[in-house]
Amino acid sequence: MTAKTVLILGGGIGGLVAANELRRLLPDEHRVVLVEKNPKHTFAPSYLWLMTGDRRPEQITQDVRQLVQPGVDLLLAEGQTIDIANSTVQTSTQMLHYDYLVVALGAELSPETIQGLVESAHTFYTFDGAVKLRDALPDFGGRTLAVVVSALPYKCPGAPHEGAMLIADFFRKLGLDQKVEVHLFTPEPQPMPVAGPGLGEAVKQMLGNNGVSFHPLHKLTRVDTDARELHFEDKDAFHYDLLVAIPPHRGSRVVREAGLTNEAGWIPVNRLTLQTQHEGVYALGDATVISIPGRWKPDVPLMLPKAGVFAHAQAKVVAQRIAAEITVGGEPSEFPGIGYCMLEAGESMGGAAFGDFFAEPSPQIELRKIGKTWHLGKVLFEQWWLAPLDLRREVLRLALTLGGKVLGIPFII
Ligand SMILES: Cc1cc2nc3c(=O)[nH]c(=O)nc-3n(C[C@H](O)[C@H](O)[C@H](O)COP(=O)(O)OP(=O)(O)OC[C@H]3O[C@@H](n4cnc5c(N)ncnc54)[C@H](O)[C@@H]3O)c2cc1C
Repeated sequence: MTAKTVLILGGGIGGLVAANELRRLLPDEHRVVLVEKNPKHTFAPSYLWLMTGDRRPEQITQDVRQLVQPGVDLLLAEGQTIDIANSTVQTSTQMLHYDYLVVALGAELSPETIQGLVESAHTFYTFDGAVKLRDALPDFGGRTLAVVVSALPYKCPGAPHEGAMLIADFFRKLGLDQKVEVHLFTPEPQPMPVAGPGLGEAVKQMLGNNGVSFHPLHKLTRVDTDARELHFEDKDAFHYDLLVAIPPHRGSRVVREAGLTNEAGWIPVNRLTLQTQHEGVYALGDATVISIPGRWKPDVPLMLPKAGVFAHAQAKVVAQRIAAEITVGGEPSEFPGIGYCMLEAGESMGGAAFGDFFAEPSPQIELRKIGKTWHLGKVLFEQWWLAPLDLRREVLRLALTLGGKVLGIPFII
């Protein structure tokens, strides 16, 4: 058997899992190379706790080297171009050849595509943004705080709702809930439309109970920084005192230029195998677009949400399929489309939208409101994810497995 090289581009949630699984499954003569531009990994679901001051920056940061199995060749460099015809990737430090390519480059944020957003808005969708917002919230002296989903698609369908509820909770704890109004705007017709009207209603109630006014069908067109006004398509302008935006997302430049994407900039893949249209080239996580059964509006098909839980599960499938192909062994696994979106509501209370996103004729998702137990599950998962690959991680894995049994939701670990 000739030695093969599997190249993984992007060492975020999906890329790290893919690299570690491949190293575990492949005999030593095969190379597993992981290219990641950032030496420090940060756990995005905890940006919300960074924003509220419940985590310090160093508590949600880990050296990428600590998260990579021995035997994975980690290259800390930027992937610059992918040449599919010649099976090569040019990075900022060297040219790499691959036999199999796994694209796990995630999504980029592009606030500059909406007028006024860069100058006016805070965000908890980046590490630095969450730190700045943490510093701004205690000084807020105004009345109206707007959280705005500025465009679709965006990662983690629960996060804007969680963010708004946690901000409302922040002011409640300061005794300012009668003074500060928290408003959530989105172009969607309901919270998490992928999960159906029943779940949307339940999340709306959750928002209302936690002091957040919800404004669906508001498509942001521009922000008037001087007047502090949000302008929407076919809706009245809204005055804010503090603006928090979920910026528009787009596919990475590297994949767009490689010709891997559709017109919108996302990589179409086979939803079960994660294969792209090019042989030996797989893509996973936020970089992909996967249509699922059901419709949002008559003319808009549903798409699988961009979420770490899916990037993680897809990475396991991709690794297993590539390893099976190289070693000619085992039944190749398929991505089942089962997953969950977490919903933190403050006061250490949480819930989860859990179910089958590939179910026919439309996804079967239910809201599990498990109070403090679910919150504890998220904390455990965060600790496990960021722990160096050692005994502590194994102990946490065991705790998560048991916790998942109690919650009735198998954690993907
Ligand atoms: C506030 C917030 C809360 C969230 N909460 C949840 C949650 O509760 N549950 C959940 O499932 N998901 C959650 N998510 C979403 C989750 O973080 C993403 O869906 C997940 O990280 C996607 O994984 P990925 O591997 O596709 O991309 P990423 O994890 O974004 O990884 C992409 C990696 O590629 C690297 N990269 C990019 N370009 C290059 C390049 N040119 N060269 C080299 N490296 C490059 C990046 O540095 C990054 O490390 C949340 C996201 C946010 C922002």
